[in-house]
Amino acid sequence: VVVFGKGGVGKSTVAVNLALALQKIGHRVGLLDVDIYGPSLPTLLGISGRPAVSNRRILPMEADGLRVMSLGFLMDEDTPVIWRGPIVTGIIRQFLRDVDWSGLDYLIVDMPPGTGDAQLALAQTVPVDGAVIVTTPSDLSLIDAARGLQMFKTLNVEVMGIVTNMSKFVVPSTKEEFFIFGNPAEVAKEADRLETPVLGEIPLDLTVREGGDAGRPVVVGQPESPVTEAFVELAKVVAEKKPPHAEGAAGEGAEQPKKGLFSFLKS
Ligand code: ADP
Repeated sequence: VVVFGKGGVGKSTVAVNLALALQKIGHRVGLLDVDIYGPSLPTLLGISGRPAVSNRRILPMEADGLRVMSLGFLMDEDTPVIWRGPIVTGIIRQFLRDVDWSGLDYLIVDMPPGTGDAQLALAQTVPVDGAVIVTTPSDLSLIDAARGLQMFKTLNVEVMGIVTNMSKFVVPSTKEEFFIFGNPAEVAKEADRLETPVLGEIPLDLTVREGGDAGRPVVVGQPESPVTEAFVELAKVVAEKKPPHAEGAAGEGAEQPKKGLFSFLKS
């Protein structure tokens, strides 16, 4: 339970880079950050400002070709905000209904940790195609992955699988491999037990953190690096499991444009 508040498994980092990797393999992608405890997309993508409104629709911001909307755009920096259930629900509904997401192949949603109002609101507002659970190989987060799985089952959201973040560290010069946060094989074992696949493994890499701090995610900042490759592999697995829906491909149906929606659970 304590792990929830602490965070740090790399959920937002995976959300951002997965979105960019999906774009890299040819899809149109939006990214929605509803992490009420600490929306990090503005920092990770290096964008700020407030979204414009046109024709009563909120226009998402643009970053690296992605359409982006974040709670962070609506908050003042350094102001701790405590959002209560009904507010969270209202904001998530508005972000899904009133933001112009038309014409996208995928909408990636960066969820807050925990098993609460935000997840419920999301699942009740739009059809959620699938959930991707991010974890590190450490035992504690594995327990949370199991809880997340259970929650999405209850909400009738398909859990696509688990992403093992910080799976290993490869010494650049010698290619020696170290397991800093535990052995990724443990995640695979747990995934087996939970009858869900491991969708991908993202190594621990300094460029990931540097890219995040600099507002230039590794997939665009280091397009040829092994980590980027890992994200592209992950994107391919995700896209294969959930191809963009065929209907509305020509950009019709502005009311319900979401053709693929993935939510992330921090574990
Ligand atoms: P969360 O959203 O789960 O709280 P973040 O995505 O904010 O986690 O990541 C927490 C920290 O870990 C950030 O500094 C981020 O840059 C770093 N990080 C995440 N994934 C990796 C990785 N694969 N390699 C190195 N650093 C990472």
